[in-house]
Amino acid sequence: MTANSRCSVAEPPGLETQRREIECLLRESELQAGDSWYVVDRRWFEQWKEFVESGDQNSSSFPGQIDNTELFEDLDSYHLKERLVENEDFMLVPAAAWHKLLQWYGMVDGQPALERKVVDLPSTLKVEVYPVEIFLCLHSNMENVTSAQFSRTDSICAIQTAMCQAFSVPPGSECRLWMKSSDSSCERLRNVQVSVLDACLSSGMTVIMETRNADGTWPSSRPQIMRNSAEEPDSYRGQPGVCGLTNLGNTCFMNSALQCLSNTPPLTEYFLRSSYLDELNFTNPLGMKGEIAEAYADIIKQMWSGRHYSVVPRVFKTKVGHFASQFLGYQQHDSQELLSFLLDGLHEDLNRVKNKEYIELRDADGRPDQEVAEEAWRNHRRRNDSVIVDTFHGLFKSTLVCPECHKVSVTFDPFCYLSVPLPVSKERVMEVFFVSLDPHAKPVQHRVVVPKAGRVSDLCAALSDMTNVPPTQMVVADVFNHRFYKIYNPEESLSCILDRDDIFVYELSQQDEDSVLLALYLRERSHYRDFGSSSNSYGTTLFGHPLLLNVPRSSCSQEALYGLFLQRLARYVRPPDPAEELEEEEEEEEEDEEEELYKTQTNGISDDERNVSKTAGPSEPEPCCSNASPNGPTDGPAPDPAPSGPIAAAGDPPPGVNHGLDSLDQGDTEVGNGSLNPTAGNPDGLSAGGDLGADGEADGNAELPGEAAQHHRETTEEENEEDKQEEARSPSPPANDCPAKRRACRKRRRSLFTIQAVNSNGTTERGMGEGGSAVSFSSQPYVAIDWDPDMKKRFYNENEAERYVKHGSMEVPQQQTTVQLQQCIELFTTVETLEEENPWYCPVCKKHQLATKKLDLWSLPEVLIIHLKRFSYTKFTREKLDTIVDFPLRDLDFSDFLLRKGVSPEEPPSRYDLIAVSNHYGGLRDGHYTSYAQNKDNGQWYYFDDSKVTYASQDQIVTHAAYVLFYHRQDKIRKPTLPAPSISSASASQPANDITEAGAAPSCGSMETD
Ligand SMILES: [Zn+2]
Repeated sequence: MTANSRCSVAEPPGLETQRREIECLLRESELQAGDSWYVVDRRWFEQWKEFVESGDQNSSSFPGQIDNTELFEDLDSYHLKERLVENEDFMLVPAAAWHKLLQWYGMVDGQPALERKVVDLPSTLKVEVYPVEIFLCLHSNMENVTSAQFSRTDSICAIQTAMCQAFSVPPGSECRLWMKSSDSSCERLRNVQVSVLDACLSSGMTVIMETRNADGTWPSSRPQIMRNSAEEPDSYRGQPGVCGLTNLGNTCFMNSALQCLSNTPPLTEYFLRSSYLDELNFTNPLGMKGEIAEAYADIIKQMWSGRHYSVVPRVFKTKVGHFASQFLGYQQHDSQELLSFLLDGLHEDLNRVKNKEYIELRDADGRPDQEVAEEAWRNHRRRNDSVIVDTFHGLFKSTLVCPECHKVSVTFDPFCYLSVPLPVSKERVMEVFFVSLDPHAKPVQHRVVVPKAGRVSDLCAALSDMTNVPPTQMVVADVFNHRFYKIYNPEESLSCILDRDDIFVYELSQQDEDSVLLALYLRERSHYRDFGSSSNSYGTTLFGHPLLLNVPRSSCSQEALYGLFLQRLARYVRPPDPAEELEEEEEEEEEDEEEELYKTQTNGISDDERNVSKTAGPSEPEPCCSNASPNGPTDGPAPDPAPSGPIAAAGDPPPGVNHGLDSLDQGDTEVGNGSLNPTAGNPDGLSAGGDLGADGEADGNAELPGEAAQHHRETTEEENEEDKQEEARSPSPPANDCPAKRRACRKRRRSLFTIQAVNSNGTTERGMGEGGSAVSFSSQPYVAIDWDPDMKKRFYNENEAERYVKHGSMEVPQQQTTVQLQQCIELFTTVETLEEENPWYCPVCKKHQLATKKLDLWSLPEVLIIHLKRFSYTKFTREKLDTIVDFPLRDLDFSDFLLRKGVSPEEPPSRYDLIAVSNHYGGLRDGHYTSYAQNKDNGQWYYFDDSKVTYASQDQIVTHAAYVLFYHRQDKIRKPTLPAPSISSASASQPANDITEAGAAPSCGSMETD
């Protein structure tokens, strides 16, 4: 009865055992170089977790086969999508855990396992989710390019070996390798012993191999090809500092930060006049032995030489990666984080203090601010003295007050940049689709405003205002891959819903005690037989949009459901006209088939499926079909009204396996527990489709026979086999089936589709495991209607099904909020109460307290960096704020914000002018960084976008993308030494670092042959 066709999938242990075993492996496995880990889709993994935590083998959260579809770019190459994020898009599991999961659940056919190696990178062990993908070609035939993946720890030698193999280079040939980056610059890979990482090879780059000519020369004997090397022969003389930075693969965050720093005059001048050479600190344990400072100096000197259109910051990137593994680069990073790291690294590398003395910090103890501040600054300078401190460090005062004993603690702390908050709206705009009850109405896309910390019920209420549909008649669901990824409970927090989720809100008919919330999926049968698959008795593919509908219990019969679904789908499912049906019926040959179709039509939801418990699942399922409706139309004996069925008590454990079946066997329409209403309306006495059947084997045979077959049904192995061979039709009735019924069948309509009970994944299979064969629904009833491809083609209008309309709310442009930079600075200095995660230890109370905290600015540096906290992570939301912050380009006056006022006339003024901006475009996870900066020599603003530099005008600078602002104090600003370049309107959009005007050699990087 429980025969399974799964060949590779082992009977998994109990859910608790599964959970324990996997959790234990995840907890105890450590990264070890060379070990294999596996990438698993996070949604699948979460679903698995939900499943094992549900403790119910039959839970509708059964995850099905491991499915990494969402991680792939496409299903031909099985290339991973770019920029997937660990724990957001995928999980990494150790090999042992993977093999268990694979054994228990199998894997969607054809998908490769995503095995990845742990690599030993400088200062870190990492699972190399994205190996480096490099294009390979021979110098003699650059048209013939192949690609290959290498680990960052592979040596260049390994690439050479792979190339010799790929291109059948005769053994013993003398080779040399060149690497070509996206900007076409070429560089020789001289040292084949270094790793891919150290050579700065990254995905998308090309390695070209040449072999020595017979005459002893090399095919590429011209040095010009190394455009970015020191040998660059032409000496392009552009404006120093107006120089692009090549993107080395997701390095725009670094380029953006570097351009801002490069255009910070005091720092750049310090490096250009080589002052750093005297101050390199090779012994500072907190520093990088001077390497970061030297690499930075190299970049700055190149950028300000006027000889380059663009510089490849390869060495610099590698150095940064060496010292801060988070920047090694799989994903996009934060330019502000890099800036913070870099300023710290430069500071320690250039710290003039060689031996840091220990300084005990004294509490303010009520002493005057001036005294405490001076002491704090003095102490800071005793340990920290560098060009970075000279240029960027300021001092702020922090005041903590204990809410209990009112102890006041005052400290003065140095800062290198100000992170100012943006006013966060307490509201959130959501875009959702509303699906009306009216079957002829197209879904309507609405834009609603809801409280950010609200609940799903708030979304319904907002939508109710627009639709006049009461919120109680709405159900909110996340639709994903043609199925319900999640059906929300009204009490659930809206923070569960991400902006990228596809949210559908379904209008339900008036609910009463006797209705059932039914989730309806559409599936198409595969033509091919699917013996190999372990999941279904026949292959199906979900399509279209799922629906949620309230079904009166009295309409739970197969026939009634069929009619109801036809009605509900009327907008895009054409009912067959009688002629079509007749035609088919008259063909004798098809009698059998009709018989099948008829019977499948009468198939239904298993008895167990009606055993709906309120406890499981996120939705709030109505008890489904628990008792026959008293007013349901009945022909036969009245249904047993006694709630003796397995669903009597919601939340009870699933009832005995055969409970339902037994009772079904007892009589015709008097189906004891959980019975659906026996169908009436079948005058010839055939209670066709009366009951949703009582199957429930774990073999995927949830397609149940109609009542006629039920009485005679003997489920045997053979029958199951037959079952499959018939491609999903219900088991044939035994031969002794009543001939009268046969005749009756022939007169019935041929149905467009059959109705199947499924799990929430839309697969027929539901839970399996040590529990054995019993299957019962313990949450939402899900059904699928299955279409044969030809029927779908004829009766299902795909174009119509996909149509929707936009509500007026979609037309209203989303209002862009603008705030003044000064407001953000005010917020920075506003009193806040510490959060519970981060309390303060009160020395008087001797315990942690949620103190109030206030920050005040005490003294400001020459160059003030202001970081706008656009990435907001709160308890409720993770979002990027696109608010426009209006910041002044000139005369940003801090005198009102400074605590210290007019102490002495020598005090520097507190007015600042803007010199650079780092921009971030895009969302939380992806995006692009650029920068605006003013050249110190000619006063002109430029827009730096990786290797591209264009002229910028001042009115372009304030945008919603501005992320980090650089301000220079007016008393330190020196007048430009050069006139601003004259920019015609035509050249405004021209690259400012363009080479065409200069008439220099084109940047073509293709290697030239003699
Ligand atoms: Zn206290």
